[in-house]
Amino acid sequence: MKLLKTLSLALTMSVTPALSQAKDDAKSNPFAQRAADIQSELIELRRDFHRHPEVAGEEVRTAQKVADYLDGLGLEVTTDIGGHGVIGLLKGSKPGKTVVWRADMDAMHSDEPDPVSFKSGIEGKRHICGHDVHTTIGLGIAKVLSERKAELAGNIYFLFQPAEETLHGAQAMINDGALDLMHADEIYGAHVSPLQVGVISAKPNMVFADWHHLEIRFNGNENTAEITALIDQIIAGQLRTNTDIQLWKPENYLHPEYGVANPNTVYKDYLLLSQSAKTRDTNQQLSIRTAFLTTNTDDLETVIIDLKAKLAKSPYADRLININASQRVPAVTNNEELTRASRAYLLNLGDNTEIGTHYGVLPFMTDDFAYFQQKIPGVYFFLGGSNFQQGVIAAPHTPNFQVDESAIEIGVRTFAALLSERAQR
Ligand SMILES: [Zn+2]
Repeated sequence: MKLLKTLSLALTMSVTPALSQAKDDAKSNPFAQRAADIQSELIELRRDFHRHPEVAGEEVRTAQKVADYLDGLGLEVTTDIGGHGVIGLLKGSKPGKTVVWRADMDAMHSDEPDPVSFKSGIEGKRHICGHDVHTTIGLGIAKVLSERKAELAGNIYFLFQPAEETLHGAQAMINDGALDLMHADEIYGAHVSPLQVGVISAKPNMVFADWHHLEIRFNGNENTAEITALIDQIIAGQLRTNTDIQLWKPENYLHPEYGVANPNTVYKDYLLLSQSAKTRDTNQQLSIRTAFLTTNTDDLETVIIDLKAKLAKSPYADRLININASQRVPAVTNNEELTRASRAYLLNLGDNTEIGTHYGVLPFMTDDFAYFQQKIPGVYFFLGGSNFQQGVIAAPHTPNFQVDESAIEIGVRTFAALLSERAQR
């Protein structure tokens, strides 16, 4: 997960209540016992990744450990895909579909003190987006599934992606042939979230808002201030929310009354400015750049039509050269049918995990998992990592980011079951 703004907040929200049933409630998930058995091994693995964080493009040690682990499980392993990407193939013993589990591996730059006992050993770098947990869960799923290979159908690929934080890794792996290697039918992935540990959530369709950039170019570089103000004013006329609540504040995302988990959430329909107009003069030209976030993909066209119409009536009409729109990364968008089927399966699993949904579209976040979803139908889950009672808040990119490590066992047993089920059909 990449955040468009660095968050520095003290999250105090309380969401879905903790699940406090005894662990032996988990009964019909065939992977529950093994996920529990290997929990301490996986926690050690996670702490090793945490002590040795590697930022985007530098994931040499992490990728090597991943490749060695998968190799040890007997998977067919391909390395150095799109940089330090690793793909492992677990072949089932019966015919079935080809499904992919995606995990990201990169850490981030951070100078804030690490609150955990197994601190980052590399100054200025730390896992504060939970990718150490994601990598570990991916390996844990591969382990418990590989132990039941004789019963498995289809092919299950484990894709470990580098450079998510720079939003380059997924596309780099695709450019380097990852999709041709896998010929996948479905793709799944999960991100640690501030939800309470024991809760897993997924919603159909758009998960994060579309993030559009506009560049408006003019001949000449006079009247810079006036033109910038006019563009700001035009864009401001298109902004849309149905609330006074400050949607960009992360503490509002999970508010029980209007956050994304409430069906009446205020996060359903909005157009927010993510960046005020910035100007740049080059070669006797004026370039104004701005960006906005929206829950409606049609908004891009509406904004451009409005800009063109209003600029045409302005004193700067004959200086307008063009308006270029770009999208740094597409929005994570869950396949409706697969989301429905996955949730239905997990709800019936009889596992000690709460399978939730959410209703809103989150602003100021993105994940280049979206590039895989453009080619392969898939679902992106939020995996609860907070333990509010213990003050553990798994809000990515925050200085005190921590994860309740029981999320690893939960992730392994839940998604191992899901993948084995999805590969059967
Ligand atoms: Zn992330």
